[in-house]
Amino acid sequence: MTRDEYNALRAELLETELTNTQLALTELYESILEGKAMKIFINPGHCIDSDSGAVGFGLTEAEVAMQIAKRVSHYLAAVGYKTKVFQYDGLEEIVDVSNYWDADLFVSIHCNAFNGAARGTETFYFHNSVEGENLALLTFGDCHKI
Ligand SMILES: [Zn+2]
Repeated sequence: MTRDEYNALRAELLETELTNTQLALTELYESILEGKAMKIFINPGHCIDSDSGAVGFGLTEAEVAMQIAKRVSHYLAAVGYKTKVFQYDGLEEIVDVSNYWDADLFVSIHCNAFNGAARGTETFYFHNSVEGENLALLTFGDCHKI
């Protein structure tokens, strides 16, 4: 996808974002009242004991990703989402735990490094998921505001 294609798609999504956000909040409040808050599975990338991920400045990606995941979980729980933080060095096991927990949304947090010159963020989504693509586009744009 080119930058122009991305910007056009994001502009289209932003036009409906407010409505979608209001709808999502309404659904969230209804689900909380029914005791069924959205379940968000958070996977801090890599594994502190066996797979450090990127290393630099005396930090490992696994440790930084875990700290971010704990904070994200805290903030999401504070607004009514159910969260589970799980870090492991096997992707199959991570997906199994997420599916067993019956997550509505799966997020894996990484703090990748490459050649010291690379900058920016990456957002991936499952290739057959329109909802995933829309969420990825919205969060990708929000990451660039930070
Ligand atoms: Zn990583």
